[in-house]
Amino acid sequence: MKTETSLQWKLVKYLLAFVIALLALLWLFQVVFLDSFYQRFKIEGIEKIGNTLAANLESEKFTEIVAQQARQNDACIRVLNGLGQIQTTNTMGCQLYNLSNAEIAEYVAQAQANGGSYLDIQSEKVVSELPNGNLLLSNKHGSKNLIYFKIVDNTSYFKTIIMVNTHISPINATTETLRTQLGYIALIVVVASLGLAYLMSRKIVKPIVNINQSARQMAEGNYDIVFTGRGYKEITQLNDTMNHTTRKLKEVDQMRRDLIANVSHDLRTPLTMISGYGEMMRDLPGENTPENVQVIIDEAHRLSNLVNDLLDLSKLQENKIELHIQDFDLTQLIQTVLYRYEKFMTQDGFDIQFQPAESVRVNADPDRLGQVLYNFINNAINYSLDDKRIVIRQLVNGNRVRVEVEDHGEGISEDKLNYIWDRYYKVDKTHKRSSAGSGIGLAIVREILELHHAQYGVRSEVGQGSVFWFELSMASDSKSVPACAG
Ligand code: ADP
Repeated sequence: MKTETSLQWKLVKYLLAFVIALLALLWLFQVVFLDSFYQRFKIEGIEKIGNTLAANLESEKFTEIVAQQARQNDACIRVLNGLGQIQTTNTMGCQLYNLSNAEIAEYVAQAQANGGSYLDIQSEKVVSELPNGNLLLSNKHGSKNLIYFKIVDNTSYFKTIIMVNTHISPINATTETLRTQLGYIALIVVVASLGLAYLMSRKIVKPIVNINQSARQMAEGNYDIVFTGRGYKEITQLNDTMNHTTRKLKEVDQMRRDLIANVSHDLRTPLTMISGYGEMMRDLPGENTPENVQVIIDEAHRLSNLVNDLLDLSKLQENKIELHIQDFDLTQLIQTVLYRYEKFMTQDGFDIQFQPAESVRVNADPDRLGQVLYNFINNAINYSLDDKRIVIRQLVNGNRVRVEVEDHGEGISEDKLNYIWDRYYKVDKTHKRSSAGSGIGLAIVREILELHHAQYGVRSEVGQGSVFWFELSMASDSKSVPACAG
C-alpha cells in the first residue's frame, strides 16, 4: 500500500525545493554567467558611446558630451576627421595613442567592411622583467582591452572616425566573494525555510488534525461532538460544514430511531389483532363470525398499506416514480375520494363539507393527487378532537386552483410546522391514534407535490385546527362548468 506523505512533510519539501531552485538561479547568474554578463554589458556600453557620439557630431556641446561619456564609462575617446584630431580625452594609458597610422587604417577598413563599426577585443598584455634582464610580454589574466571604431559619413566632405577604448577588468575576486556570500545565504535561507515550514504546518495542520479527531468520534456515532477548530477562513468554513453535518446526522439518527419505534408499533398493533382474533376464532367456534373475519382482513389491509407507504416513499425519493400526467376533473376526483369517507360521516359523526362553485380541470397524475387528498383528509380525521367538522375548499384564482382541507382539531405549534413534512416526523410520538400513521404520509405528499411543481403549505393554530393546502395550474382548456353536488 502506498503511504501518503503528511501535509507537514509536503510543505517542507515544496519550500526546500523552492529555496534550492532560487539559490541555483542566484548561483548561475552571479557566479557562472557573471563574466559573460559583464563582458556583454561592456560591449553594449562601448557601442552605445559610439552611437551617442555619432548622433551628436554636429552638436555645439560635442566636447562636453565626449568628456561626459568618457567619465561615465571609464573610457578613452578619440575622434578624427579628415582635417585631423577634433576631440580627445585622457590619453594616459589609452591604447588609441599607441596605434600606428597603418593600424588605424586597418581598423577603418574593417569597420567599413563591417557596416560602419568594428570592435576588437584584445587580451591585455603585461610587461615583466625576466631574471636575465630581458622583458617578457604576457597576457594579463582575465583582463581585456576593447577597441571600438565607428565611421560616420556626416554632411561635411570628410568622414569622421570615432574611436573608443575601454577595459574589462578581471572579476575573479568578485566571483569568489559572491560565492562565499552565497554559501552563507544558502545556509541561512535553508534553516529559515525549515523553520517557516514548521511554523506554517503547525498553523495549517493543527486545526485539520483536530477536525479529523472530532470526525472520527462522529463516525463512531457521537453526534454531540462540536467541531471547534478555527484559525483561517477555509478551516472555519469546514468546521461550520462539519457542525451542520453533525446536526443533520443527529436528526436523521433520531428519525431512524423514531421510525423503528413507530413502524414496530404500527406493525405490532394489527399483528396482535390478527393473531388474537385468529386464535379466538380457532378456540371458540361461536366467534367464527363474518365480523371477526372482517377485523382480520381490515388489519391485514392496514399492514399492507403501511408497507406500501414505505415502499412508495423510498421510490419517490429515488425519483423512480413516473407521473402519468393527464387532463382530468379535479373537482370530481375530490368528490370520489369523499365518497369513500361516507362511513366516517355516518358512523363516527364526522361532518365533511365540500361545496365547489365550479368544476375545474388540471393537468396532473390523478392517482397521486388522490393520494395527497387521502393523506390530508385522513390526518384531518385523525387529529380532530371533539369538533368533527372538516371543510374542503376549492378556490379558483386566475388560472390557479387551490384545494384546502380544514379541520378544527388539535392544531400544530409553530416550531413544529417546518418538520411535519419530513419523513418519519410525528409531533406527538405517543398519539392515541398513532397506529393510523407512522409519520410518512406528509413526506409522500411533499414528494408528489414537488414532482408536480405545485405549491403547498399549512396554516395552523394550536387548539383551533389546521388548514393543509396545495395549489396547481389549471388545464389550459379548463372551462367553468357548474359542479355536481358532492
Ligand atoms: P402520520 O402518519 O403520523 O399522520 P404524517 O406525515 O401524515 O404522519 O403527519 C406528520 C405529523 O404531522 C403527524 O404525526 C402529526 O403530528 C402532524 N399532523 C399532520 N396533519 C395534522 C393535522 N391535520 N392536525 C394536527 N397535526 C397534524
